Amino acid sequence: MQRILLHNCCGPCSTYTVKRLREGPFAVTGFWYNPNIHPFTEHQRRLENLQRFAGIVEMPLLVEDGYEMITYLRAVCGHEREGERCLICYRLRLGRTAEVAAREGFDCFSTTLLISPYQHHDLLRSVGREMASLHGVPFYYEDFRAGYRESRNLAREMDLYRQQYCGCVFSEWERFRDPPRREASKRPDGEKKDALR
Ligand code: SF4
Repeated sequence: MQRILLHNCCGPCSTYTVKRLREGPFAVTGFWYNPNIHPFTEHQRRLENLQRFAGIVEMPLLVEDGYEMITYLRAVCGHEREGERCLICYRLRLGRTAEVAAREGFDCFSTTLLISPYQHHDLLRSVGREMASLHGVPFYYEDFRAGYRESRNLAREMDLYRQQYCGCVFSEWERFRDPPRREASKRPDGEKKDALR
């Protein structure tokens, strides 16, 4: 069994990912560090939701104390464009995960962000590798996106909160500033997207 520290972005994305990893040679410990999430009430809501999920599936969960919103905002200041700010956001979150994984003696680390078709997947993979080499702990890469639809179904079954935007204040604005685009976000089969990241 390998001990993996899994960065959790939210409950819904964790459902399939944890199940999938447990089917392999992994003992999964969750890790919460998402200073990008805005506002604080949303951050707390997603954290509480993840804690409830962790209880259901009996997953140990490490939670970073505090809310480092200022760290996130300072880091992306001047780089607010989508994509550019995401690179910084990934570095912050995966950097902390790798640091804790190395310090606590985990065999490797990964992230539930790899399940989302709305993330910059290749960027995530390269940041994971970059942080692995920086902190001296392997990054476990897998393309979990095939399980995205199943993750939404599992989240519904567990009655988990399903957020409407990625997390940061910019993503919230981009999601809601233009009502016609919300209509355009309906799936071809008429199912409304219930989580954009
Ligand atoms: S859109 Fe998502 S990944 Fe990109 S900076 Fe905002 S919270 Fe981070």
